[in-house]
Amino acid sequence: MKTLHWIVSRGFTLFFLGLSIIAVVALGYDSHTLMLWFLLPFYGISLLAQTLMPKVKKPLENGELTTDLVSNGVLMVINSLQNAVLSAVFALGSSSLLIQLGWLDPHYGLSNAPLWLQVLVGIMLLDLFFYITHRMAHEIPFLWRFHSVHHCAHRVTFMNAYRAHPLDAMFRRFVPLFFVLLTGISEQALVATAVIGSVLATITHLNMDLKHGWLNYLIGTNEVHRWHHSSRYDEAKNFAVIMLWDHLFGTFYYPRDRDMPEHIGLVNERHFPLHHYGKQLLIPFRWRRLKRRQAGIQRIEKPSDMITGNR
Ligand SMILES: [Zn+2]
Repeated sequence: MKTLHWIVSRGFTLFFLGLSIIAVVALGYDSHTLMLWFLLPFYGISLLAQTLMPKVKKPLENGELTTDLVSNGVLMVINSLQNAVLSAVFALGSSSLLIQLGWLDPHYGLSNAPLWLQVLVGIMLLDLFFYITHRMAHEIPFLWRFHSVHHCAHRVTFMNAYRAHPLDAMFRRFVPLFFVLLTGISEQALVATAVIGSVLATITHLNMDLKHGWLNYLIGTNEVHRWHHSSRYDEAKNFAVIMLWDHLFGTFYYPRDRDMPEHIGLVNERHFPLHHYGKQLLIPFRWRRLKRRQAGIQRIEKPSDMITGNR
């Protein structure tokens, strides 16, 4: 049993990343087939694996599971709509708005490059803009109002990977996709990028006892991403999924001598609706009231009286 634990903890990520590449090719770059025969089984296995080998073994908090389930359901609907829009864009003949507008010669579109290069550029570009939008969501107080919902849980798990305010989720997904689409990437390469990206995003949030070693310096494993969810501002780094961007912009954080953050969640969670989806939808619009209640004051005379830090 110990040997199996050792093998799974060290091999899980690389195995499923490799399998995702094989599945994309074997299942003919078809998004529906890949969802049914690869991604859904992978999600099921991930859920089972984090139940059998949990990193944080705390009982579920009141309302935690319901909030995660509702949030996942809403985002599935939003993502399906987004996929429908993407299919319509490709049906127009080219993924690139620049080509459709006549601003880019079709010969210079990314779809002319070899497929492997398109996927590589697609993943790197998608993640660069994910890094930018994600960091903006932390550092621009207005955007943090929305992104705080994703950070309010007390553990990082597969179940709350998609716990997010819909407007925050759309911002951090649509903007990166938009820039990838500008390149004129082919539909096949976009499907491959999305499938590999989904596997990476799932591993990032797994509440599973995995050991990645050198891989922690390359991708946002759950070991490095847990630090992103620390309630300490100086530890909450690692915004990307491809760690190159965090290395380049000086936001990589991985203390080798520590296992994980002491506290995961918000710095000040007083009066924050930790596990209530309806109230979480409204919290960005009730932010001043939240800050007033947290400060224990009735009225704010001027905005500078408010605690506006991103935590
Ligand atoms: Zn974040």
